[in-house]
Amino acid sequence: MTQRDRPAIQTRCVHAPVPANVRGTPLSVPIYQTSVFAFDDLDEQVQALSDPRLGYSYSRFGNPTVRALEQAINALEGAVDSVAVASGMAAIAVALGAELRSGARVVSQRDLYGGTASLLTDLEQRWGVQVSYVDVADPTAVSAALKPGTSVLFLETISNPMTAVTDIGGLAELARAAGVRTVVDNTFSSPTGCRPLDWGADVVLHSTTKYLGGHDDLTGGVISYADAELHQAGAAYARLIGVTPDPHNAWLTLRGLKTLGVRMRQACANATELARRLSGHPAVAAVHHPSLSSHPQYDLAARLLDQPGAMLAFDLRGGRDAVAALVPRLRLVQLAASLGGVETTISHPVSSSHRGFTAESLAAARITPGTVRLSTGIEDVEDIWSDLESALDQ
Ligand SMILES: *Cc1c(COP(=O)(O)O)cnc(C)c1O
Repeated sequence: MTQRDRPAIQTRCVHAPVPANVRGTPLSVPIYQTSVFAFDDLDEQVQALSDPRLGYSYSRFGNPTVRALEQAINALEGAVDSVAVASGMAAIAVALGAELRSGARVVSQRDLYGGTASLLTDLEQRWGVQVSYVDVADPTAVSAALKPGTSVLFLETISNPMTAVTDIGGLAELARAAGVRTVVDNTFSSPTGCRPLDWGADVVLHSTTKYLGGHDDLTGGVISYADAELHQAGAAYARLIGVTPDPHNAWLTLRGLKTLGVRMRQACANATELARRLSGHPAVAAVHHPSLSSHPQYDLAARLLDQPGAMLAFDLRGGRDAVAALVPRLRLVQLAASLGGVETTISHPVSSSHRGFTAESLAAARITPGTVRLSTGIEDVEDIWSDLESALDQ
């Protein structure tokens, strides 16, 4: 049979030429929208399959766009290495799942993101993990809880929604002395506000859905490690359970990261100014933001955080009815169950993120029916204030 001068149309549809590398580096990381990588050499493929650090073989194991995101995060968090995953919850599941065995002990901050609390309950009920919750403002209680056999101390830099600030440095030191690994959810701060690995944490994670992506257009997560062995275990577990992200997701996050510095600077300045103005409004009983001298961890926040954060909460005197009346009066500020985007949004914890809480746990967290959470965006602060003020004045 003679070689045909060109393949049939069906074959040509499939085998479009892939451009070879040319001179000039793309300024923006390309989206390697491929699930698999081809090889000319059997041994090279075997190598790439057995160790993703030696080459790309299959995108669940590794992908150049995803890798670029992981390296960008390493630079921000000061990490030895990072693992990008498909959501913030996947980041928490990998950080804990790679570390825990059945019967292991976890000590956790009491005021937690709701999804984290549900995951810990699931680990407790179905996997035999023992979880104890502590008040992280009480180092003696944390010390006492870090009993022999404890694997992980789980913390959040800034809590939802009351913006309590956790002494990452002090507690990580206690954990280290007890042979316990510290895992920190740094989503509310973002790396521009705090870098927990610098304060002695072993693992830091983010929902990149929030500030790192920053535009309310993606769902993602990332886990960063201070230690290469821990990273290897996390990366292997993420591949095993298949929570690694799609290349397009990683690319959107990389694009978001480019403006993280300017977004956080503006959003935190806006939050600081809004916290000050809300404190003076007659409809507002209390404002919670680390920039306020009335904040219970004001001094700690000034030491730990380079920025006070763009999340704030305020309690309306009129309770739930006042919140229900406020929402439809707002024109610029939207009611939305996420945070960390360029748009200013509000949420009502009692009817959204904390709707499963008992009256006692709400009281313990100092959340009232009139508590409103504000995720401050990057709009001009005068426009946000005029929207809030006119809605509050009515
Ligand atoms: C949103 C959030 C998560 C979960 O992230 P997803 O991307 O929704 O899975 C975890 N922790 C904190 C603090 C969050 O705000």
